Amino acid sequence: MSFERKNIGAMQGYLSGEQPTDGSTIKLNTNENPYPPAPQIQEIVNSFQIEALRRYPPPTANGFRDLAAAIHDIDRDNIIATRGGDELIRLLITTFVDPGQAIGMTNPTYSLYPVLAQIQNCPVEKVELETDWSLPRNFAQRMNEAGCRLTLVVNPHAPTGKLLTTEQVSTLADELDSVLLMDEAYVDFVEPAADYNTLPLIHQHDNLVILRTLSKGYSLAGLRFGYGIASPSLISPMIAKTRDSYNLDLLSQLIAEAALTYRAHAMGNCAKIMADRETLAHELSNLGLDSSKTNTNFLLVTVPGRFPCDAATLYAELKKRGILVRYFAEKRLADKIRVTVGTPAENTRLLDAIATIVAESESDTQITP
Ligand SMILES: *Cc1c(COP(=O)(O)O)cnc(C)c1O
Repeated sequence: MSFERKNIGAMQGYLSGEQPTDGSTIKLNTNENPYPPAPQIQEIVNSFQIEALRRYPPPTANGFRDLAAAIHDIDRDNIIATRGGDELIRLLITTFVDPGQAIGMTNPTYSLYPVLAQIQNCPVEKVELETDWSLPRNFAQRMNEAGCRLTLVVNPHAPTGKLLTTEQVSTLADELDSVLLMDEAYVDFVEPAADYNTLPLIHQHDNLVILRTLSKGYSLAGLRFGYGIASPSLISPMIAKTRDSYNLDLLSQLIAEAALTYRAHAMGNCAKIMADRETLAHELSNLGLDSSKTNTNFLLVTVPGRFPCDAATLYAELKKRGILVRYFAEKRLADKIRVTVGTPAENTRLLDAIATIVAESESDTQITP
């Protein structure tokens, strides 16, 4: 006898990227930042008095909200702090979507979205991206026709790296009847020349929510800290009603505050990663592996028919050599691997391993999948 709700019994759950514990694997599979967070954060942890844990933490993380508000030139009421960006997505669903109402997204997209929709027993409306991964012109119309109450769009996009312009985001918010989440998990890696800034749009669009996270740009994936930015009419019900009573523990609030205070350190790391991704893309292309232009810390790399092995085999061969990348066994992604940009040393190890795989196959060594 199963006690699960019917929709929970029928669903699969989110499949996280592999997290090996051996310490020697080169992890280019989950878009983590290869550089350590700001050193001042270490001092916060070292001087933390556990006596402080006797009391409940600040319930709405106002210290963090005030720092984020100052950085973004908005008000505290425009911000909610959440347990990773992922908690924000869950809160949007429980606050703005009834069970049974549709949630819209692109295909491909962040694979957590459909899982969160299934938990709430909401049908998912998926619209295929164009062949160049751009948003179809009638995207908003299709979301509206499907009766979507919430539309989830990653920008810059995962797993393709493609960036919608600020203007396109504004048009989308205008056209949609639903709440629009712009998931900007990778925004810290957008090239400055793109002149991308959606924050002022929250004052013009009362349906727009922007997701930010400390997981990628700030090297703090293990912390579980993110935030949402929107008009107070969207933020306040999540703060006052649907959030867990104390959703962020005291120590992570202090660490997150330090991360923002010393954000120059993080932005310096992001600049390095942005420079290195261009080098990596260029060198992969010399090995016969092209990737489309990206504004993230990863490359979506196509393994063409003329390459000595297919994408699934390349993934497996790299794994044998201690290098993890991400492979998605989905129709439009099956000939690709997603590679997180690592340190220059890690990137070189990847390139060397690929060159070895190519050389071995050319010398007629059997490559086993
Ligand atoms: C990493 C990521 C998030 C947020 O992750 P958290 O670690 O929960 O902050 C959200 N969306 C996308 C597309 C991501 O890649």
